[in-house]
Amino acid sequence: MATMALPTEVSQNTTAKSCRFCGASLEKTFIDLGMSPLCETYPSVAELNRGEMFYPLHVFVCAKCFLVQLEEFESPENIFSDYLYFSSYSDSWLKHCENYTTQMIERFGLGLKNFVVEVASNDGYLLQYFVKKGVPVLGIEPASNVAKVAEEKGVPTLNRFFGVQLAFELVSQGKTADLIAGNNVLAQVPDLNDFVEGLKLLLKPQGVLTLEFPSLLKLIELNEFDTIYHEHFSYFSLLATINILQAHGLKVFDVEELATHGGSLRVYACRVEDTTHALQPSVEALLQLEKKSGLDTIAAYEGFARQVKETKFALLDFLLSAAKEGKTVAGYGAPGKSATLLHYCGIGKDLIQYTVDRSPHKQGRVLPGTHIPIFHPDRIRETKPDYVIILPWNLKDEITQQLQFIREWGGRFVVPIPKVAVY
Ligand SMILES: [Zn+2]
Repeated sequence: MATMALPTEVSQNTTAKSCRFCGASLEKTFIDLGMSPLCETYPSVAELNRGEMFYPLHVFVCAKCFLVQLEEFESPENIFSDYLYFSSYSDSWLKHCENYTTQMIERFGLGLKNFVVEVASNDGYLLQYFVKKGVPVLGIEPASNVAKVAEEKGVPTLNRFFGVQLAFELVSQGKTADLIAGNNVLAQVPDLNDFVEGLKLLLKPQGVLTLEFPSLLKLIELNEFDTIYHEHFSYFSLLATINILQAHGLKVFDVEELATHGGSLRVYACRVEDTTHALQPSVEALLQLEKKSGLDTIAAYEGFARQVKETKFALLDFLLSAAKEGKTVAGYGAPGKSATLLHYCGIGKDLIQYTVDRSPHKQGRVLPGTHIPIFHPDRIRETKPDYVIILPWNLKDEITQQLQFIREWGGRFVVPIPKVAVY
């Protein structure tokens, strides 16, 4: 029997994969999580009978520069123009941002005469603290609904995508930055080289760039596969980050390991020719740790898929037993990462009856794909579920504390990652 030729479009998609940083062809799979809907698109009740687009979550690792990455398949405009993630809804995250502000002001002596820019500034959750201290700021945020909220709080915000073009425009207006902050944005940039080049252009000769992003080492060690979703195009080790920044005339002079988002890195960089910032020993220490874990060899990236599959089976075992025993399971939170977890594991309304979220923008909607309904957190007190599964497991301490009242009816918490834990 003759083999049918694949349609041109499909064969092009499977052959034209190249690294978004170095351009080498992508052949090594890091993990293939199957098909998933766009995770920050929460359908409303009126949209329940419509179809939803699913996209592949196939992650590759570049054998040349070790950048772990997804292919780009949806235009960033479609993903981010009406983004429902309002950063300001987590207490611990806001505390983190306030601390960052204090640290930066003290360490780099920022004041009234300086200028702080944040790329992907969301609803002004971070810059509001600089505004309070009188430091001039500019937020850059592509999602118009979120940018509007920032403006209303008194955080000047440009509703644009950031890259070389916008950096040129700002520089030509005399706007260069003493500090540029990029929190959890690097992963979401489709044109990585244009973005990083833009950061360099916008930076004053002695300016500082800080980038925060989830650590790839932690992602592997702590099995955080649900942090892989379509909005995250790239996953960074310090090793890969140093190479990328260096290619654009920037050098890393300090790095901190943070507990946020399941283990993040905060990288401090400046222009390569800038000698005012001394190289801290933390950089070499973390590089050695990454090398010890083999992140500079392709072998370290293999084996991740196996541990992820084990987690899926354990979570399904737990949920199926609970369902058979007639126990009720509610979710807490509707984070983007829940879409990956639920789709990869094949979990629907039959296993988790509903979830709740503090964000009023998500309440009354449903989770993408699974259509698990999202309610106000009061629903938990009203329905007294036997188990509450914490979907944003990175906030488990905060959420467990807020929800201690479930103990009144013998309720228990479930955390799916790194390993299924019931307590
Ligand atoms: Zn590469």
